[in-house]
Amino acid sequence: MDKNFRRTVIAGNWKMNMTPTAAAAFIKELAPMVADADCDVVLCVPAIDIPAAVAAAEGTNIHIGAENVHFAESGAYTGEISADMLVDAGVEYVIIGHSERRQYFAETDETVNARTKAALAKNLKAIVCVGETLTQREQGITAETVSLQTKIALLGVSAEDMKNVIIAYEPVWAIGTGKTATSDQADEVCGIIRDVIAGLYGECVAKATTIQYGGSMNAKNAEELLSKVNVDGGLIGGASLKTADFTVIVKNG
Ligand code: PEP
Repeated sequence: MDKNFRRTVIAGNWKMNMTPTAAAAFIKELAPMVADADCDVVLCVPAIDIPAAVAAAEGTNIHIGAENVHFAESGAYTGEISADMLVDAGVEYVIIGHSERRQYFAETDETVNARTKAALAKNLKAIVCVGETLTQREQGITAETVSLQTKIALLGVSAEDMKNVIIAYEPVWAIGTGKTATSDQADEVCGIIRDVIAGLYGECVAKATTIQYGGSMNAKNAEELLSKVNVDGGLIGGASLKTADFTVIVKNG
């Protein structure tokens, strides 16, 4: 598999951090540091930060993403945000099915699928998260778990729409814990996901799909993780909150 067939995407996930004021200041500081990046640079920010982030990123190579999207076009879903609203605000990417959404907000494979289709229908780039828990890894069902999550997330998604799909392999046990998957573990599971995509859409789509690793990626381990043939970028939590650390990861992308 040749990495040249697909984009490397380094995406930050700020989670519930940064006020709009802090977001604008962060992006102003980061922009010159990543201006010569060879990869796509994305910051997925809290919904309330989106206008400030989009304004601060204007004219730079930083793309703004959201951290979630609702599956309905509009309606009685208090507190939710639609794909149309994100697009209108200048958002290009959206994280879907992050393990924290699955764990704390009852996100299921079915709602991940519905949100993915809603995002793609409005031409948003969907960063779809999959990953096993520690128990599932210890039970030896990592491949089955991520394969099932990937297949259900992509139900009803066309081969044409796959150009706007990024899969983020995020082992739950490695998120925010400081425990990183080894580069071989990351490569192996990203390869399994690529095989699932090949089974669903064929080799050409599989070769062209960006598959990120996420889980305590940082300035120290990024080079090794990103050197792997099946790892096409990273979804980065903690280290995306520091301009210097995030820049090092981008430079390795
Ligand atoms: C994440 O939130 O997607 C993530 C990978 O977090 P961290 O990098 O902090 O483990």
